[in-house]
Amino acid sequence: MSDTQYLDWPFLEVHHKQLAIDLDAWATRHVPHDHGADIDTECRSLVRSLGQGGWLRHAVGGKHGAAAAIDTRAICLVRETLARHSGLADFAFAMQGLGSGAISLQGTSEQKERYLPRVAAGEAIAAFALSEPGAGSDVAAMQCNAHVEGTHAVLNGEKTWISNGGIADFYVVFARTGEAPGARGISAFIVDADTPGLEIAERIDVIAPHPLARLRFSNCRVPLSQRIGDAGEGFKVAMRTLDVFRTSVAAADLGFARRAMDEALQRATSRKMFNQHLSDFQLTQAKLAQMATTIDSAALLVYRAAWQRDQGRNVTREAAMAKLTATEGAQQVIDAAVQIFGGQGVVSGETVERLYREIRSLRIYEGASEVQQLIIGRDLLKGLAASEGKP
Ligand SMILES: Cc1cc2nc3c(=O)[nH]c(=O)nc-3n(C[C@H](O)[C@H](O)[C@H](O)COP(=O)(O)OP(=O)(O)OC[C@H]3O[C@@H](n4cnc5c(N)ncnc54)[C@H](O)[C@@H]3O)c2cc1C
Repeated sequence: MSDTQYLDWPFLEVHHKQLAIDLDAWATRHVPHDHGADIDTECRSLVRSLGQGGWLRHAVGGKHGAAAAIDTRAICLVRETLARHSGLADFAFAMQGLGSGAISLQGTSEQKERYLPRVAAGEAIAAFALSEPGAGSDVAAMQCNAHVEGTHAVLNGEKTWISNGGIADFYVVFARTGEAPGARGISAFIVDADTPGLEIAERIDVIAPHPLARLRFSNCRVPLSQRIGDAGEGFKVAMRTLDVFRTSVAAADLGFARRAMDEALQRATSRKMFNQHLSDFQLTQAKLAQMATTIDSAALLVYRAAWQRDQGRNVTREAAMAKLTATEGAQQVIDAAVQIFGGQGVVSGETVERLYREIRSLRIYEGASEVQQLIIGRDLLKGLAASEGKP
């Protein structure tokens, strides 16, 4: 395990520190560093093994989870630790949480009983289906729709970039139900993968491979008992879920960046050049200093946001600050590590090369960096207007 001083920060409790230490020891034994070409099989096996190890209980809330309510700091520490070992292991954990988060936060007791124990045990794979070909950053432009016929909602349309698409056992799908225009006319439904009318239209390959697909819904009938929250409340359900998991994306960034830092330190202190080591040059020390400072400033924002959410406070601005700073910072840290490695840094299979590919999507998904900037900017202006008594 790399530098662990942050585990003593006041944002974290004693059990959080122990969780990170225990998981690190477990991951060293159980998480493969390299993955084979069959990413679906690898991912299924990681979900099973994380379930058997008891770690997925941290991804779900309530009596089926490890804590009475969702423990954001625990989720962040699990993601950070797994990301240091393997991007796919972090992905497997994160998607169990993101895919079931809406059920943990707002599901009925029947929905919780039906899905959460299997998610926590690694026996059911979850997915979160919000994005569409024409509605990524602009979620409210969503076209996928659902109309009510008797006791069922009938879904039609497409979702794309759906992580775990193709291997998930169920999808939490957001569809336009038309109670009001824009974001206020969307509802969330749990759709089992074998529901007639749901098909995998396309599998998508990305630079850091993980299961990803475009889904098509054609007259897909889902019982209304599978709706999460009230009709028209789906956007709020999605945003509440993202408030938890957006902070955890930032935690995964930290894990990738810390691994890059470890690799860079090893390399700089062992690589000989000009009759000294690379680390003897002040230019290298400046680079390492910047990397360490970037990591610590991101970590402070991540655990501030996670702690604040665990206090029951709103974290929209803090989660956006954490994600923006951690994703952009991790990209810089990893790029610097590749530079320190020289030619070896871009060799396929080298750890820093893998990290360079892993980090890229995180600046785009669960709200691109520009979207995080807008969230922060709007929140600042809203705060100013409220303090001046403006509507
Ligand atoms: C690997 C991966 C996994 C994903 N997994 C999931 C998943 O499981 N479930 C799911 O629902 N979605 C998922 N997504 C989708 C992801 O959330 C979207 O890709 C993201 O929201 C961006 O949408 P878009 O790709 O349509 O880009 P666009 O919305 O077209 O945005 C393109 C770019 O425009 C810029 N931009 C955006 N808004 C503004 C603005 N207001 N001002 C200026 N610039 C702006 C940003 O740089 C952005 O990257 C995943 C994506 C990836 C890459």
